[in-house]
Amino acid sequence: MVEVLAARQKQVLEKGRDSYALECGKASTAGAVSQRACVFCGSRVVLYPIADALHLIHGPIGCAAYTWDIRGSMSSGPELHRLSFSTDLSENEVIYGGEKKLYAALTELITEYKPKAAFVYCTCIIGLIGDDVDAVCARAGREQGIQIIAVHSEGFKGTKKDGYRAACEAAFRLTGKDNDTPVSRFSINILGEFNLAGETWLIRDYYKRMGVEVACCLTGDGRVADIGRAHRARLNVVQCSGSMTSLAKMMKDSYGIPFIRVSYFGIEDMTRALYDVAEFFGDEEILRRTRDFVRAEVGSLLPGLSEYRKDLEGKKAAVYVGGSFKAFSLVKALRHLGMETVVVGSQTGAPEDYEYLKEITNEGAIICDDTNPLELSGFILEKGADLLIGGVKERPIAYKMGIAFCDHNHERKEALAGYAGMLNFAKEVHCSVTSPVWRYSPARIKAAEERGGALP
Ligand code: SF4
Repeated sequence: MVEVLAARQKQVLEKGRDSYALECGKASTAGAVSQRACVFCGSRVVLYPIADALHLIHGPIGCAAYTWDIRGSMSSGPELHRLSFSTDLSENEVIYGGEKKLYAALTELITEYKPKAAFVYCTCIIGLIGDDVDAVCARAGREQGIQIIAVHSEGFKGTKKDGYRAACEAAFRLTGKDNDTPVSRFSINILGEFNLAGETWLIRDYYKRMGVEVACCLTGDGRVADIGRAHRARLNVVQCSGSMTSLAKMMKDSYGIPFIRVSYFGIEDMTRALYDVAEFFGDEEILRRTRDFVRAEVGSLLPGLSEYRKDLEGKKAAVYVGGSFKAFSLVKALRHLGMETVVVGSQTGAPEDYEYLKEITNEGAIICDDTNPLELSGFILEKGADLLIGGVKERPIAYKMGIAFCDHNHERKEALAGYAGMLNFAKEVHCSVTSPVWRYSPARIKAAEERGGALP
């Protein structure tokens, strides 16, 4: 039995055994070693892919190092986002204030790189020393003739989710600028797709083939000018609901743009995402094109998947990701490969998300919110998972437990969204799960013996 801290007892449940509603949306338990990142990191990951903006981190150098090149976030043009700028505050500024240094950094960087806009990220120390970052941004912005936005993301003031909100507030300030560039009457914005490995291009192409224009993607392959005209699209399609729902709500309140939540991972959810958009417009030609496109894509994907499924049938998976929408898609995608999800959790799930996870998992599945390495590794061994799907912080947990790993987070280099992404996903899972190396893992041999069996 895995030991769970008393304060976290209700943030973990086993389907079929526990009947309470999972607790979530609260601050991490002190000492629990949460896998969540800080508020600043949350805002940085959302805004980072805007490729023609300057991203300046106002704080000590460690914050910048922590988030340097944090996502793949490919760009089809400028790559200013790949550079990590910091005001590199030292003891002197902590005592006397960092405003002068911030102003000097903005002036120098904007003169040198000529960005279309600039974001200044406030880190923990800024919240403590009380720099008036908004005033410095306003002054430098007037002088330089570009919009400079203070992102109030002081690391200590909440969870990563608060960072998402700070990023949404910052991105929202770039909207509503362009009322002239034509936008199709069949136009959408994609919110929460970050073009980690080229997926934004793939998904844009899908919609284009349906006859739908993507006016703006926030923020994958992002451009300041595109965000400026996003307020004239007809629909917001929110892919990463954890990070971008607050921006969708702001745009609904201010511009009257409705939004839907989708996921681009796995066959069912990818297909649903296309049909939901087609049905929103209700245009016969778009619906016909969507049906033809989906039929062709799924038809050519299934034979490849069934090959991988032969080896993966009956294997078990653990899933721990940032947003719960991705977790839903992964449970379904794994089922296509013949695999059962025995552990599933997220960093930022809402009560209704966990209820849905209960619906789509089998009896005995562990469902957890804001878990930690000790709990997660315990659940993996207890349930006999063969695979862990997570991000960079979960990778060492998988390898220490001696099980396969699939990176489904910021740093991956393989496109996993869309139909092509589903095949890549199957290939990656197959490659790792069928590796012979796991037979020699002491942790797994011991766990298998404790369960009264042996490793296959
Ligand atoms: S903002 Fe604060 S918590 Fe986040 S990396 Fe910087 S010092 Fe650490």
